[in-house]
Amino acid sequence: MKIDILTLFPDMFSGVLGQSMLQKAAERAAVEYNVVNFRDYADNKHSTVDDYPYGGGAGMVLTPQPIFDAITALREKAQSKPPRVILLCPQGERFEQQKAEELAKEEHLIFICGHYEGYDERIRQHIVTDEISIGDYVLTGGELGAMVVVDSVVRLLPEVLGNQESHLKDSFSTGLLEHPHYTRPADFRGLKVPEVLLSGNHKLIDEWRNKEALRRTLERRPDLFAKIELTTEQEKWLEEVKKDGQ
Ligand code: SAM
Repeated sequence: MKIDILTLFPDMFSGVLGQSMLQKAAERAAVEYNVVNFRDYADNKHSTVDDYPYGGGAGMVLTPQPIFDAITALREKAQSKPPRVILLCPQGERFEQQKAEELAKEEHLIFICGHYEGYDERIRQHIVTDEISIGDYVLTGGELGAMVVVDSVVRLLPEVLGNQESHLKDSFSTGLLEHPHYTRPADFRGLKVPEVLLSGNHKLIDEWRNKEALRRTLERRPDLFAKIELTTEQEKWLEEVKKDGQ
């Protein structure tokens, strides 16, 4: 996968892309990052990228020219099918795991990080394929949002997670929250690990995990049940979990 990030603050990305899983993904050639300062594409003497809003009002607006020209240059270099051009934006579609899974199938993503009061509307109308919000709050710029989306997409790429199975059971991938985890010691200062996890009985462990995932979802995110269809077995477990709580 190729990932281009258009930003006015490229240094913000060096820590995030140069550490942990995101760095390993690049070392394993699963992904290639290209962080571009779109100020370099400004065609005016002072490399200005923003201007006052038409009609007046507070704040500056990103002008279309540098972003249009940067995207055109990146598209021309693209060898694959046309890239997805993602604008980080509080007014966009709220980012969820399903979107990360969809984007992880692409060969080329371009992220545009807005700043100031916003961006000229013609950017959204004419060069963007997706608008993503990372939540109902307003950030200073799109950089943190791009980092969130890049992280969640790259970890899904084949070759990136050590255990290919591990993300399949992650919260939201199954439609539910994930079950709780325990590790050694079995008894930590009197706080014990559930017996079943020490039993070595994989069928019982699997059933316990399934039930705990249902319990957790019921307690914390009951809204998620409206988006999925449970199997007959899960329906039965959910009934048991509900009875436990009575
Ligand atoms: N005036 C804009 C509005 O009310 O929708 C907010 C502009 S915000 C200060 C500047 C930039 O930060 C946005 O253009 C966008 O790129 C980014 N941004 C802010 N909140 C975001 C969010 N929740 N998700 C993704 N990007 C966000």
